[in-house]
Amino acid sequence: MLRQPDPKPDILARRDAIVAGLRALLPAEAVIAEPLRLKPYETDGLSAYRQPPLAVVLPDTTEQVAAVMRFCHAEGVRVVPRGAGTSLSGGALPMADAVVVGLMKMNRILDIDYADRCATVQAGVTNIGITDAVQGRGFFYAPDPSSQLACMIGGNVSMNSGGAHCLKYGVTANNLLGLKIVTVDGEILSIGGAHLDAAGYDWLGLLTGSEGQLALVTEVTVRILRSPEGARAMLAAFSSNEVAGACVDAIISSGIIPVALEFMDRPAIHACEEFAHAGYPLDAEAMLIIEVEGSPAEQDDLLARLRAICERHDPISLKVSQSAEESLAIWKGRKGAFGAIGRISPDYLCMDGVIPTSCLPDVLRRIGEMSDAYGLKVANIFHAGDGNLHPLIMFDANDPDSFRRAEEFGADILKLCVEMGGCLTGEHGVGVEKRELMPVQFSASELEQQRRIKSAFDPGWLLNANKVFPLVGS
Ligand SMILES: Cc1cc2nc3c(=O)[nH]c(=O)nc-3n(C[C@H](O)[C@H](O)[C@H](O)COP(=O)(O)OP(=O)(O)OC[C@H]3O[C@@H](n4cnc5c(N)ncnc54)[C@H](O)[C@@H]3O)c2cc1C
Repeated sequence: MLRQPDPKPDILARRDAIVAGLRALLPAEAVIAEPLRLKPYETDGLSAYRQPPLAVVLPDTTEQVAAVMRFCHAEGVRVVPRGAGTSLSGGALPMADAVVVGLMKMNRILDIDYADRCATVQAGVTNIGITDAVQGRGFFYAPDPSSQLACMIGGNVSMNSGGAHCLKYGVTANNLLGLKIVTVDGEILSIGGAHLDAAGYDWLGLLTGSEGQLALVTEVTVRILRSPEGARAMLAAFSSNEVAGACVDAIISSGIIPVALEFMDRPAIHACEEFAHAGYPLDAEAMLIIEVEGSPAEQDDLLARLRAICERHDPISLKVSQSAEESLAIWKGRKGAFGAIGRISPDYLCMDGVIPTSCLPDVLRRIGEMSDAYGLKVANIFHAGDGNLHPLIMFDANDPDSFRRAEEFGADILKLCVEMGGCLTGEHGVGVEKRELMPVQFSASELEQQRRIKSAFDPGWLLNANKVFPLVGS
């Protein structure tokens, strides 16, 4: 069960004055303090945890963000940055004494530079909004979280988000060129720009994936890429998770890098097929979606080599999409997977860990054993090519024991990832969800060094202070 830091009693006592101070800085409609209107902000994609904040502000310029930060800093008020609130690790979960700074009104495309292949956008532009803005000229923004219709680029930077096509193109960090940020005391800083490398320390590297703990991101410059000539997906169905896992390992160790290599087990295949009618193989225990791209000749060559690898693993069936519509349906099923699982179990925890791909068969077997031991169903849907697991643990939120078992099952999966030489988080961040597991990954002195970095940016621990580090005290 979630622990939150104790709220600061003096901040709660001064609530009305703090709200009045915020109202003096922003237009009336940009400050929300009424309990009913705070409700949409009390949780995020990890909806098992809820906490109404003290207030929500919705600035629409960097200067307004800076004014809010100067005020909160002077008053000692904690701040929780928020994009679309799709975090699956509770990254945007408020605290009772915190002001949520929502960046969703900052949704303007500021500049598109086709010559230098980059775009500068405000933090509240959705991930898909960047591709929408450039695809007419034959470009796209590569990282594609399944939540891309909703999640915002500021949230993507803060979580270093990935997606199905990151196997080839890398995650947010690999597609980022510059940031405008506001520090905890309201200073506006620019980092990087429309060029590939920046002088001095690697600030971009430090800020990417820092989960709203070091600064607020208000503008982002990303790399845009030429769209490929074409792409085709292949569905490969197998008789067990372990064989499909071994096939993933064989593909990766062959040196071929498909643009995407996604894994679904039986519960996931059935839930997604019911939702997307994509022709997924219902007789299979596990399925891979393998996508290649390039000219027709390149696609044919890659598909032939991938088919040969799959055939060495006794597939039940192999099917190559024959049209853009078929490929779209295949991806509709995969990208709608979390919603599809929601139709069979309204409550589930989506775990997110990373393992070396060679461990896939073993890890999938052990997750199956844990599922039996905890008496909870699990569906596995994940970016297999980069070893990024997403077991979805189904539970009943009305049964506290079922929720407790789901949390313990999830923690055991993440510990297994670390034991296998992997990592606690692939792309969803630590948030509140994995905070207490950080000592499984890091030694006490490694954690202390990270705390010092946080303290250098935010000495009073006002920024998203209930995330990432195990709670001390309260
Ligand atoms: C159905 C579904 C599918 C998903 N699929 C994927 C996937 O394929 N890959 C993936 O990586 N993730 C995925 N996610 C998780 C989530 O969408 C990502 O973490 C996303 O980047 C969060 O963006 P957001 O705008 O919703 O941020 P929020 O959830 O609002 O915030 C996320 C974190 O970033 C901080 N933050 C947000 N904006 C800013 C800012 N401007 N400045 C500073 N800090 C900020 C917040 O404090 C919080 O810690 C999925 C989520 C859902 C619900």
